[in-house]
Amino acid sequence: GALDVGVLAAAVRDVVARHEVLRTVYPEVDGVGFQRILPADRATLDIDVVQVDDAGLVGAVTEFVSGTFDVTREVPVRARIVELSDTEHVLVFVVHHIAGDGSSMGPLMRDLMVAYTAHTAGESPSWKPLPVQYADYAIWQRAVLGDEADPDSLISRQIDHWRTALSDVPAVLDLPTDRPRPAVQSFAGGRVDVSIAAETHRGLTRLAAQTNTTLFMVVHAAWAVLLSRLSGADDVTVGTPIAGRGEEALDDLIGQFVNTLVLRSRVDGGEAFTGLLRRTRESDLAAFANADVPFERLVEVLDPVRSTAHHPLFQVGLSFQNLDHGAFELPGLTLSGVDFEAGISQFDLHLIVADAYDENGEPLGLGGGLTFASALFDEATATAIVDRFTRVLDAIVSDPEVAVGDIDILDVSERAALGAAGAGRSVSVPAVTLPDLFAEQVGARGAATAVVTDDAVLTYAEFAARVYPLARYLISSGVGPDSRVVLAMPRSVELLVAMYAVAAAGGAYVPVDPDQPAERISHILGTADPVLVLATTAADVDGVSVGVPVVVVDDLDVSSYSSAPVVDSERVGALLPGHAAYVIFTSGSTGRPKGVAVPHSAVVNQLVWKRDAFGLGGSDAVLLKTAATFDLSVWEFWSATVSGGAVVLARAGGQQDPDYLLDLVRTHRVTTLHAVPSMLEALLAAEGGRLPSALSRVLAIGEELPAGLAQRVRAAGDLDLVNLYGPTEAAVSVTAHAVSEADAVSVPIGVPEWNVGVRVLDARLRPVPVGVAGELYLSGVQLARGYHGRADLTADRFVADLVGAGERMYRTGDLVRWVRGGSGVLELEYLGRTDFQVKLRGFRIELGEIEAALRAQHDVAQAIVTVHSDARAGDRLVAYVVPESGRAVDAATLTAAVARDLPNYMVPDAVVVLEALPLNVNGKVDRRALPAPVFEAVVFRAPTTPVEEIVASVFAEVLGVDRVGLD
Ligand code: AMP
Ligand code: MG
Repeated sequence: GALDVGVLAAAVRDVVARHEVLRTVYPEVDGVGFQRILPADRATLDIDVVQVDDAGLVGAVTEFVSGTFDVTREVPVRARIVELSDTEHVLVFVVHHIAGDGSSMGPLMRDLMVAYTAHTAGESPSWKPLPVQYADYAIWQRAVLGDEADPDSLISRQIDHWRTALSDVPAVLDLPTDRPRPAVQSFAGGRVDVSIAAETHRGLTRLAAQTNTTLFMVVHAAWAVLLSRLSGADDVTVGTPIAGRGEEALDDLIGQFVNTLVLRSRVDGGEAFTGLLRRTRESDLAAFANADVPFERLVEVLDPVRSTAHHPLFQVGLSFQNLDHGAFELPGLTLSGVDFEAGISQFDLHLIVADAYDENGEPLGLGGGLTFASALFDEATATAIVDRFTRVLDAIVSDPEVAVGDIDILDVSERAALGAAGAGRSVSVPAVTLPDLFAEQVGARGAATAVVTDDAVLTYAEFAARVYPLARYLISSGVGPDSRVVLAMPRSVELLVAMYAVAAAGGAYVPVDPDQPAERISHILGTADPVLVLATTAADVDGVSVGVPVVVVDDLDVSSYSSAPVVDSERVGALLPGHAAYVIFTSGSTGRPKGVAVPHSAVVNQLVWKRDAFGLGGSDAVLLKTAATFDLSVWEFWSATVSGGAVVLARAGGQQDPDYLLDLVRTHRVTTLHAVPSMLEALLAAEGGRLPSALSRVLAIGEELPAGLAQRVRAAGDLDLVNLYGPTEAAVSVTAHAVSEADAVSVPIGVPEWNVGVRVLDARLRPVPVGVAGELYLSGVQLARGYHGRADLTADRFVADLVGAGERMYRTGDLVRWVRGGSGVLELEYLGRTDFQVKLRGFRIELGEIEAALRAQHDVAQAIVTVHSDARAGDRLVAYVVPESGRAVDAATLTAAVARDLPNYMVPDAVVVLEALPLNVNGKVDRRALPAPVFEAVVFRAPTTPVEEIVASVFAEVLGVDRVGLD
């Protein structure tokens, strides 16, 4: 029918007149939920009437709704009537939240109906004046809550409750977002629908009845389960509004009664849903019983981490709405609500659920929506979250006793996609060994260059003529499959010959660095249990307790042995692909290095994949500059010679001189460089951002490749840059990603290589969805046999494969997640470690090993080692030690002492002596509370001459310290 605009406007004005709160200005807002209010004398409200066509409607509404209110100067309401045609109108009524809440919709609509109906009949509304106004409530609320200074007041008791309930609550729930969190929360949002079937709704209601809980509690517990699974956190808070209208007299009032409650859940993946639900009931009831402290006040007293980037105390909301507003009817008119998308999300995510029932009270299903902050999430991600939530609800209905960590939040197609992404291409690589691959090249290209040093060049034939006689000597000494030879040699042709000879003899080589402390080498020797030790000079094993023959290769005359390739019949036993090719020792968290035994089949797969993936061939030269004690060197030692290329040797110690390395690359036209990112940084710095033109591929591995560095390397020449990832326990590298200009923010570690399986699993070994952090597990042919002589450590890390019966998986301790690249391909992104293993300038270090070395010293009772990062000075190792009671520890003496046990790169850069280690509430060491170290000379001597001053100031600048003294 026809709407009388004048009548509607009069009715709106009547409603505003009836509710004092709607014509109140707030000259002072104290920000804690109590307002000192001052009724404004504005009985008439301007009502704006605009005419637009259908297409203009959204614009007219958006414009009107988006405007702000200055509540200190104007009334907190405004109304507009939009005329679409003579017979179609939209009433837009905007109330600032200070004067109205969701539950005010009921009284607002009721009063509007009464007023409109009366005015249509030419009368005034016949309602009785309201018995109380919002101001009465505000005064009453203050009186009831009492004074915070009084410990027995309601507000004091409630604050006490929250102090306990929310103590140490995590500042942020880290959900897998599509984009990093901006520094300032934008509140721009979107919304996707939630629709839960009647069947599930019935099940949830039944579950609530059986467990003496409410539908709200069931939905809350389920939501906490999903949030925990998505964030990997076991401590999850959500915020929920509570109506705050306990008294009947408040039912007819418009006003801001709603409060926000913080609901905290500890989610334990092993607990049955019913267990979590029982605890949710307790904590929700306790929260509801302490619901009167205004949220704003709570934030002030609890003083959590405040940030413009996120909401305090919680970032995810849960609202339960009762849709029962009653019918809204006006005489002579047909009415319906206009859907309006405000484009706002108050929180990162806000689940809004409404339940509906038929006239017999039978569940009709749950409706509602999920609003999401569009700065963080895409709509598709929000939809996926709703789908997962639906699966959680279905799972708890069908089995309320299910362990919450076992609920499947993936659907069939996701599961299949993750499985496919995790399976490297299956390629049949010949079942051969390293000496087989080498012999093939010796036979095919004897005259080609195999080895280049500063002063010599060896062809394949010449190199082979040195390798095979030594191999035969080793066989005659008892070396063969399943035995080991320690190589205690600095980088040299002799080392290269010795390594190949050990392999040809069928043994596994065990590299040790002669520069490392004798104590550590002795331990490695004891564990490796070798047949013999090969050294360049006797000095290489000075002070080492050996127990087996030390053979000094320079003193050895092997000229009586044949230089033809060694064949299997000559060996002490047949060499099989499953035999170990090398044992590389790596830092061990329990205080001693552990030896990773890698079989030929694993290295061969890696080398053959690499040869194919990068097209390595006869024209390639590879730089050898990594110590043999790191598995990155396996590429450098072996990849050229299995593809017919040349290996260019940097002299011992030369790896520390970027200019020298770049010279080698230039002079010998090195095409392929393997490097840890920190080395790349040093090379770029030495060359002013350019790399020699011969270089056509750079393979980065070993630590996180920062996107900025990656782009600078790409720009440094006409070269391909690849980010590779892999632990020593899986033969150098297992995933690869070709870096492109698209990798501007982060560089993925990529996709699995040939015959490699990767999986990202949660703590209960369940695959995590795309975007969710999990631990990386590896399977396939590249796995090591385990830790030599340490069945216990091996069993801990090499666990039974979930899928392939009889197969094993290696648990990396690396935290990663699947990300979908631009082309839609799923790739892995590296996030960090789950433990105290670190990478420092490419060196793999277990902080626990350093701590054990410190604790083994006299007078040291406790020790903690951390990596201290400084933007300018870089990463440094800092040890915090507590002396035995009544004893003293001197930092310099302690450092010198541990330097006798640890390799250089593991010796702390600073030692801080503390009386006690800071502990957190759980009694564990609180690493964040450790004091920052001070790197300072004991006695400062000022530089005196101008030259000294300049040198000192350059050092100070590079080190990022205020001053540097003469010493
Ligand atoms: P290592 O056994 O010395 O090769 O060290 C293996 C560890 O280095 C892995 O477990 C990772 O923590 C780290 N790592 C190796 N490659 C990468 C990479 N590309 N990005 C980030 N971390 C890496
Ligand atoms: Mg490695």
